Amino acid sequence: MEKKNLDWANLGFGYMTTDYRYVANYKNGAWDKGGLTDDPTVTLNECAGIFHYCQEIFEGLKAYTTEDGHIVTFRPDLNAVRMMDSAKRLEMPPFPAERFLEAVEEVVKANAAWVPPYGSGASLYVRPYMFASSPVIGVKPADEYQFRILVTPVGPYFKGGVHPLTICVSDFDRAAPHGTGHIKAGLNYAMSLHAYVTAHQNGYDENMFLDPATRTYVEETGGANFIFIDKEGTLVIPKSDSILPSVTRRSIAVVAKDILGMKVKERPVKLAELSDFAECGVCGTAAVVCPVGKVVDHGREICFPSGMESMGPVIQKLYDTLTGIQMGKIEGPAGWVHKIM
Ligand SMILES: *Cc1c(COP(=O)(O)O)cnc(C)c1O
Repeated sequence: MEKKNLDWANLGFGYMTTDYRYVANYKNGAWDKGGLTDDPTVTLNECAGIFHYCQEIFEGLKAYTTEDGHIVTFRPDLNAVRMMDSAKRLEMPPFPAERFLEAVEEVVKANAAWVPPYGSGASLYVRPYMFASSPVIGVKPADEYQFRILVTPVGPYFKGGVHPLTICVSDFDRAAPHGTGHIKAGLNYAMSLHAYVTAHQNGYDENMFLDPATRTYVEETGGANFIFIDKEGTLVIPKSDSILPSVTRRSIAVVAKDILGMKVKERPVKLAELSDFAECGVCGTAAVVCPVGKVVDHGREICFPSGMESMGPVIQKLYDTLTGIQMGKIEGPAGWVHKIM
């Protein structure tokens, strides 16, 4: 298999049409056999449920090449289960986890020429998603759905070095109590875009959303979970029912506890205690962990001791260990690195 002729190390995070995508359709109460197609276009009825009542969910994971030349994904079973949980919450038919895993394998294998080579820092972003495809005008769940997986090569996140983020405490809310913050649905992103654009216009990289009920506890950013390191070196993870359960964050918790022997506490984290922490980061599939240098709460600056130049030492260790496991250089828990070919 010959790789595509791309400048792997200089790719950004954008969409590029690749050779194949996976499609399955749900109709008359069942998922069809599904399979690959080379057609990147989706044609839908003007009244399809996705357009009107926004029944859509998605996932995100990466396929990449390890040092010994294998193409692998990282804990795709957690994405499969999370997507089933998201589907149930939006009254959509869950796409079975085993089929999700098979479909990821099939589409990554078919696009092996698009999987960046080892050492480039780039990866193949895998985006499973599902939407209501049949007409709906009265408010109710649709009868038919389409599940798809597209893949697109993306560049290294830390191109040109690590730059700790400056984050502002948002005046907007992300997820209501007992709402949909814990599922991966497009609707959570639609309403976060205004906050995101506003933060950028004001010179910030990202938002820190607070719990909407009391606006005293830290939730997450628009698309990444927070982690904190306290002055004793404990990993502190904000706990809330409306935070999206990040695969990266859950993996970091295991790495911290079982591999690095750190103390890990998952508990509600008050905005008022941020200045007590030594380090802060945000985590998700794209960056793994990105350090946060500063949080600004309406003019009040909370500067973490780790500063604006580099990752703090503990987050650096978590980052190195987790990426080492992902790349097959450090032995991690069984089943984390999932070999595709
Ligand atoms: C996808 C996502 C994350 C990160 O989750 P990972 O599984 O680590 O990629 C965090 N927050 C939100 C809101 C997300 O949608």
